[in-house]
Formats: sequence, C-alpha cells, structure tokens
Amino acid sequence: MAIDLWNEDGSFGGVGPEFEPEFMFTDRQKALQADLIELARTTLRPNAIESDEEYLFPRKNFQALAELGILGLNVPESLGGMGENHVATSMVVETIARYGCPSTAMCYVMHTAAVAAAMLRHQGNQTLCDLMGRLDKECLVGTLSLSDPATGSHVWFLMSSSAERDGEGYLLNKKASWTTSGGYADWYVAQTTSPDFNGDYANFSTWLVMGDEVAANPGSWDGMGLRGNQSGPIEIKDLKAPADRLIGPVGDGATSNDEATDPFFLFGTASCWNGIAMGMIDIARRHTTRKKHVDVGLRVCDYPTIQDYIGKALITTNASRMLTLSTCRQMDDTTNNCDWTIHSDPEALPRSELVPWSWSAKYTASSNVTEVSDKMLHACGGTAYKAGLGMERLLRDGKAGWVMAPTNEVIRNFLGRAGLMGFEALDLWNQNVDQRSIDNEVKKMTPEQKRELAERLLAE
Ligand SMILES: Cc1cc2nc3c(=O)[nH]c(=O)nc-3n(C[C@H](O)[C@H](O)[C@H](O)COP(=O)(O)OP(=O)(O)OC[C@H]3O[C@@H](n4cnc5c(N)ncnc54)[C@H](O)[C@@H]3O)c2cc1C
Repeated sequence: MAIDLWNEDGSFGGVGPEFEPEFMFTDRQKALQADLIELARTTLRPNAIESDEEYLFPRKNFQALAELGILGLNVPESLGGMGENHVATSMVVETIARYGCPSTAMCYVMHTAAVAAAMLRHQGNQTLCDLMGRLDKECLVGTLSLSDPATGSHVWFLMSSSAERDGEGYLLNKKASWTTSGGYADWYVAQTTSPDFNGDYANFSTWLVMGDEVAANPGSWDGMGLRGNQSGPIEIKDLKAPADRLIGPVGDGATSNDEATDPFFLFGTASCWNGIAMGMIDIARRHTTRKKHVDVGLRVCDYPTIQDYIGKALITTNASRMLTLSTCRQMDDTTNNCDWTIHSDPEALPRSELVPWSWSAKYTASSNVTEVSDKMLHACGGTAYKAGLGMERLLRDGKAGWVMAPTNEVIRNFLGRAGLMGFEALDLWNQNVDQRSIDNEVKKMTPEQKRELAERLLAE
C-alpha cells in the first residue's frame, strides 16, 4: 500500500502552490487542473498502483478522463471537444503524471499526438470529424504507431511497411516494434511508406487504423516501468483501407510529424517527465518533514544536505517546466490557440519551426527526471528503496524518458549537427552523399584498389 500524497486531514503533503507556474494558465485551465487533482486523489492514483503491480492497461483511468471531457481536449468545441491549447495539454499531462498515474499520462500523450495528426488534416474528411466528435462520449483511446523493427529508435525511417493502391482505397501492411496502448487502443495513427514511394523513404503517409484491424498481443508488455502503458508490437496485415483512412495527402508523413505528432509527443512527454519529477519532490517533502530521528531530535528535512537536494530539484525541475510551457505558449501564440483551421493553408506550419525547442524540452525534462528521481530516493533513504513510499515506481517510470525516441543521445547529436551545419546536415533518410569521407577513403587507396573500385562501380 503506497503512502498517499495527501495527509490524514486531507491536506496536500507535497510542495506548496508558490512553486506552481499558475501565471501560465487561464482561469478555465486552473479549474480543470483542480478537477484533475481531485480525480487523481480519488481514482487515478489508486489505479496507478494496481496498473503497476498487475501490468494493467489504465482503461479505468481513461473512462474517468473521458467523463471530464479531456480526450477531446484539443478538439474544437464545434466538433464536440474542449477547444483547449498547447499550454493546457502540457498542464493536463503533467498533472496526471504528478498526482495520478504516469502510465495513464504516457498513454494520454500518445492519444493527444494521434488527435493532433487527425485534427491537422480533418478538413474535408468526414470519418476523422466523426471520430473526433465521439472521443469522450465513447471513451475512444487513440495512439501513435511509428517504431519499425528494422530501424530501432530511428522512428521516422519506415522499412517494414507498405501501402499499395487498391481500387478506390489502399492495401496496408506494417510491422511496428513498439506502440503505447498497443492492442488496447480503439484507434491508431499509423505510418507507412507511400504507394509508389520508389525506395524514397522520405516519402511516407499517415493512416487511420481501427483497433479491430491490428494484430497485437495485448498483455505481453514487461517494461521496467510505465507498466500500464503496454507498449507492445503490433502488425497491420493486408488491411483493405478505404480512401478516407488516408490522413492528409499521400506523402504527408514528414509534414504531419513535424507539425502535429512530434510537437505534441515532445512537449507531451516532457510534461510527463516534469510531472514525475514534481511527484518525486512531493513524496520527498511529505516523507522528510514527518520522519524523525529521536536521538538528535531532528526531522530528516532539518538536515542541510536534504534541503540542498530539494532546493536543487525544485530549481532544475521548474527550469524544465518553464522551457516546456514557454514552447507551448509560443505554439499557442502562432496557432491562434490551437485553431486547426489555420491549416486550410497548407503552408501554415508554425509548430514545425519550433522543433529545436521541442527537442530541447524533451531532452531537458527526461534528463532532469533521471537526476531528480535519483536524488529524491537518496533524500528519503532506505525507506524510498521499498515499494511502500511510492518512489521506486516513479523512478522506474521516469527511466523511459531518456530512451524513448528521439533518444537523448540522438537529440544531442541532431542539435549539435544542426547548430554547426544546419538542419539539412541531419540527413534523416540517409540520402546525402558524404563527399569528404569518400575523398578521404579514396585517398588511402593504391592505384590497383582505385581501379578495382572503379570497375565495381561501373559494373553496378
Ligand atoms: C515506454 C515506451 C513507450 C514507447 N511507446 C512508443 C509508441 O507509442 N510508438 C512508437 O512508435 N514507439 C514507442 N516506443 C519506442 C521508442 O520510441 C524507441 O523506438 C525505442 O525505445 C527504441 O529502442 P531500441 O532498443 O530500438 O533502441 P536503439 O535504436 O537500438 O538505440 C540503442 C542506443 O543507440 C543510440 N542511438 C541510436 N541511434 C543513434 C544515432 N543516430 N546517434 C547516436 N546514438 C544513437 C540510442 O540513443 C541508444 O542509446 C516506446 C518506448 C518505450 C520505452
């Protein structure tokens, strides 16, 4: 049984409201946050413990979130949603992760990224509009399926997929190595190479696939943490997809990623890691202010070492939150508060311009949660090493941040390369010839080796 974040008298045991970036939120967002915290106390948090112990997909938590109306958080009111913006999305994810359940928060991030892909191209697609209008009423959980078994964390490079034209529609095949909510989601946003892509892997397309159209092995997920998120492999096999399952035009995959799925995934996961970091600090605050050493008459929080741990964790976590929230704020400012109608102009792609900021937010938050969860465990001593305090679960959950694509190694490399040589140097689809390396290698060859190479190339 985990010790709650709330005290016996109902008061919150974590850090106080003066550490909250409330100045970033509207009154409606503050009210939504209060409702979510109460839902976390009564429902999401108890279910998180059950999800973790039994590897349960958090369906019960999604039903509770649907009752609050937030599966359609970014769907406009005209389509039956809440019409909220990017800052609100970050706040919702962080609140679910901090006070409630990180697995639910991660599944919710993937849901919002799938909604973003659908909303980006909903205009003129009645199937998408209809689905967006039913998200909360029917508790329809969506997710993203990109990762390819052949390319690991290079999730943008789809080698184990295909789409062919089939009469008026398409024939789809895809193998995905990881998919959050895999086998449990009601709908998937999946990507495959485009029909007639002719070996150009930069040419890929985005599809709506329904839950009963994928083959999965639900329940096989055995991750270290985020045990409810069920990120298992899925397969789409010879699916005859009607034309309206294509999201956006053929070949829209990279644009859809830059403008919809990646921004929501990146700031969304950053918010999840920020929430876990705050949740760890909350537990540490509650525990260290209550635990006493009778021999010296001090509480654990009275030791300057512990105060230093908490001070540093608050500073770095709030720096990370501000990076995430200000990236979201800029998205709000440049999209008229997440007004999807701006995309009737195909050139309107304001979120894509913020890619360096979104990558930095994911990197900063997932690095911070690694450090903070380690230090909060140290601050609470051996008690934190045991499951009862609730910290070891959060520590395991937070470990996913670093390794989720784009991994932190890849982000550092991308930003370093882009900073030095421009974004074209990233060569995501392995298409740019590195003439310097070729010249350098050729320089090392004997005349015979050069002749052999020339003959082989001519033969090819
Ligand atoms: C909890 C969880 C949920 C997930 N959910 C989803 C989901 O919903 N949808 C989805 O599509 N995927 C999902 N994934 C998959 C995830 O995004 C990555 O694709 C996956 O973690 C890659 O694992 P891998 O073992 O193939 O890593 P590898 O690609 O083999 O990486 C191994 C190491 O090599 C490094 N590396 C790789 N490429 C480079 C490079 N170019 N430069 C420098 N270093 C490099 C990595 O940083 C890492 O250190 C999820 C993963 C986790 C852990």
